[in-house]
Amino acid sequence: MAELDAVVVGSGPNGLAAAVTLARAGLAVRVYERASRPGGGAATAELTLPGYRHDVCSAVHPLALESPFFREFALAERVEIAVPDASFAHPLDGGRAAVAYRDLERTREGLGRDGDAYARLMRPLAEHAAEVAELTSGSLLRLPRDPAVAARLGLRAFEQGSVLWNLRFRDDAAPALVTGVAAHTIVAQPSLGAAGAGLVLAAYGHARGWPIPRGGSQAITDALVADLRAHGGVIVTDAEITSLRELPPARARLLDTTPAALLRLAGDELPPSYRAALGRFRHGNGVAKVDIALSAPVPWRNPEVRAAGTVHLGGTRGEIAAAENEVGRGRHPDRPYVLVSQPSLFDDTRAPAVGQVLWAYTHVPAGSDVDVRETVIAQIERFAPGFRDTLLAVHSRTALDLSRENPNYPGGDISGGAATLAQLLRRPVLRADPWRTPVPGLYLCSASTSPGPGVHGLCGWRAARSALAHEFGIDASPDLSPD
Ligand SMILES: Cc1cc2nc3c(=O)[nH]c(=O)nc-3n(C[C@H](O)[C@H](O)[C@H](O)COP(=O)(O)OP(=O)(O)OC[C@H]3O[C@@H](n4cnc5c(N)ncnc54)[C@H](O)[C@@H]3O)c2cc1C
Repeated sequence: MAELDAVVVGSGPNGLAAAVTLARAGLAVRVYERASRPGGGAATAELTLPGYRHDVCSAVHPLALESPFFREFALAERVEIAVPDASFAHPLDGGRAAVAYRDLERTREGLGRDGDAYARLMRPLAEHAAEVAELTSGSLLRLPRDPAVAARLGLRAFEQGSVLWNLRFRDDAAPALVTGVAAHTIVAQPSLGAAGAGLVLAAYGHARGWPIPRGGSQAITDALVADLRAHGGVIVTDAEITSLRELPPARARLLDTTPAALLRLAGDELPPSYRAALGRFRHGNGVAKVDIALSAPVPWRNPEVRAAGTVHLGGTRGEIAAAENEVGRGRHPDRPYVLVSQPSLFDDTRAPAVGQVLWAYTHVPAGSDVDVRETVIAQIERFAPGFRDTLLAVHSRTALDLSRENPNYPGGDISGGAATLAQLLRRPVLRADPWRTPVPGLYLCSASTSPGPGVHGLCGWRAARSALAHEFGIDASPDLSPD
């Protein structure tokens, strides 16, 4: 093989985004992946029964749809995307439900006395979703390009992330809707990190929606892999890298790994002050995942919930906050927050004509080895009586299982590091260019860097652009559009 310009360790969405960006700049790129397939957290497989295709990790992709990287890559032209009318729904006891339609006006009408308050919270962000996406697409330490949008987001995050969070609401449905999204972050409730990220996700839900790729998240990986290969990139699977010395010579080395793995791989090459800073990086609570094959759609007591791709379970804002904070104290709540996606309602490639797949996970203490299938099923049954009668097969993975499958999720932390405000600013260290390490040519490009977790490819894209500028003198962002 010809001499390499760049090597990438790890082929998650960020590793692949980095590799694609470098290959598109005309560089010779090789990717090393420890698993037997590329893709990391973007994969789809028959986890339960033949013909039932489950998203192994990520499932719903508002961050991909709004990502400046995927916009340049023209993901929507390469992958068929279904966008449900309702981005997310939040059933409550007694058959009530709050539903976040893409159409904010319809959402407002459904929220009764709190409809106006919810619309006032969301509209200024949803109407400027592209500016919000730009603001949150790199290091949060940059000066905002649009200070007005930054101020609107900041003020709302301050309100919804503090003791003030109930001031604008009178009933329980609208605040539950907001907290259901904020709880994606797996951090304390209320808190600035949870509120900020939750508001961004909810705004996207009222802008272009929360999309589901036809064929599953695998379709995103396949699009990235195809582009990389078409531009000369090579992926070597079943290749775990345990030391940088194992890598072939290349001017740039980009690691789609945790900061702890960077410390292990680079050893004494890293200066002590940087090692100490990386050592302060903290991982968060874990996730335990349950995938289910069903004989019929979930019999939600409130039929409106069926319009949503994603469903947040756990009851009121107060109940969810209590459950999430219990997880933070190291306990498994009896009635936890459960995140559900029902992709086969919107994508007929996922299950045989008579069946459905259901994707669910709940939050657990880091490193938990508790099988949560019964707790998750009970929480769904609470809002969908008769759900148990539709079960065909269940595949359950503990937080420990997730961490064994992918070292980027230590203890089951799927965020690549606790998504607290402090660690969203300092990701993984406090630097204007957080992807570049002090070792010449060595970069970190995983979700443990800015802007953080999710399938958006932005960590990889930013790291690759930094490498292009510093190692190859290429300042322009390479054209990523389909050939
Ligand atoms: C259960 C679950 C549900 C999720 N749901 C969503 C969702 O719905 N929407 C969303 O946007 N995000 C979701 N996420 C988060 C999202 O998947 C991650 O944030 C994203 O995949 C991070 O991308 P990454 O490239 O940084 O890391 P990863 O996708 O984790 O990829 C890292 C890759 O590097 C490889 N690797 C690590 N170390 C080495 C080594 N030493 N040598 C070789 N290879 C190595 C790993 O095997 C892996 O393939 C979810 C994650 C999980 C686990």
